[in-house]
Amino acid sequence: KKITIAIDGFSSTGKSTLAKQVASKLGYAYVDTGAMYRAITLFAMKKGYIGAGFFDKESLIAVLAEVKLQFKFNEDLGYGEMFLNDENVEQQIRKIAVSGFVSKVAEISEVRSKLVEQQQQMGKDKGIVMDGRDIGTVVFPDAELKIFMTATAATRAQRRYQELLAKGDLVTHEAVLKNVEERDYIDTHRENSPLKIAPNATTIDNSNLTKEAQFDLVMQLVTN
Ligand code: C5P
Repeated sequence: KKITIAIDGFSSTGKSTLAKQVASKLGYAYVDTGAMYRAITLFAMKKGYIGAGFFDKESLIAVLAEVKLQFKFNEDLGYGEMFLNDENVEQQIRKIAVSGFVSKVAEISEVRSKLVEQQQQMGKDKGIVMDGRDIGTVVFPDAELKIFMTATAATRAQRRYQELLAKGDLVTHEAVLKNVEERDYIDTHRENSPLKIAPNATTIDNSNLTKEAQFDLVMQLVTN
C-alpha cells in the first residue's frame, strides 16, 4: 500500500537528497516544496518587488494568480525540475540571492495557502515523498511517515558552502552561515506555519551520519 512521506527540517540538512533516494527506491514521486517558495521569490525579484532593503508585498499578492509553478520530470536527473511560467528555473532558484529573500516571501499567508493547496493536490493519490518545513504539520498532517531533520548550523553551513562553490557561486563561508542562521530564525518564528516538529515525527540529527546510514534508517521506518 502506498503511503505519504513527509520530510521536514532546517535548511541544508540534506532533506532533498534523502527524499530523492527514498522516492527512487520506492518508485514514488518526489516534491521539493522549497523549490516552489524559491520560484515565487525569483518571480518577485524579477518583477522588482523585492530587493535589498525593500519588499512590496501588496504587488506580489496582487499578481499571485499569474504565477504558474510546475515540476517537469527530467529522465536523466530522475526528478522534476522547477518551471516558473513555463521557464526552467531550476538553476536560478538555487542561487544565494534567492536564498536571501525566500524566508520573507514564505511568511506571506497568501503565498503559503496557494502553495499548500497545490502541494495537497500533487499528493492526493499518495505514493509521494515531499520535503519542506510544514509538510507533516500543515500539508499532510495525516502522513503515515514523518521525518524531522536537523544538524548543527555549522555543519549545515559547511555543506551548503561546498555545494555553492562547486556550482561556481562566489560566496564566503561566513555569508552562508549567516544565511543559514537567518533563515532558521525566520522559519521558526514566523506567524504562519512556523517550522516545528510534528507530534508523531521521528527526528534525525545527521551532523554525524553518513548519507547511507541515514537512508537505511529511513527505509527501516518505511518497512515497519
Ligand atoms: O528547502 P529550502 O531551503 O530550499 O527552502 C527555502 C525556504 O523556503 C525555507 O528557508 C523556508 O523559508 C521556505 N519554505 C517554507 N515552507 C516549505 C518549504 C520551504 O516556508 N514547505
